[in-house]
Amino acid sequence: MGAGRETAVRAQVVAHWLCRSCEVEGRDPDREPTCWNCGGAVTVTARPTVFLDAVRGEAE
Ligand SMILES: [Zn+2]
Repeated sequence: MGAGRETAVRAQVVAHWLCRSCEVEGRDPDREPTCWNCGGAVTVTARPTVFLDAVRGEAE
């Protein structure tokens, strides 16, 4: 381990969520996101894995 080429793909799980109280949606790289509007608990609707290496043009 650690020897040779780095073959790992950088990936990140992003939570898509929905706040039923505010009827707003959001996306957070967080395991348990909270609503940006009311700060309350949200319902996570999806948790897709985003492969960072496949996303170009969004460099920091
Ligand atoms: Zn809310």
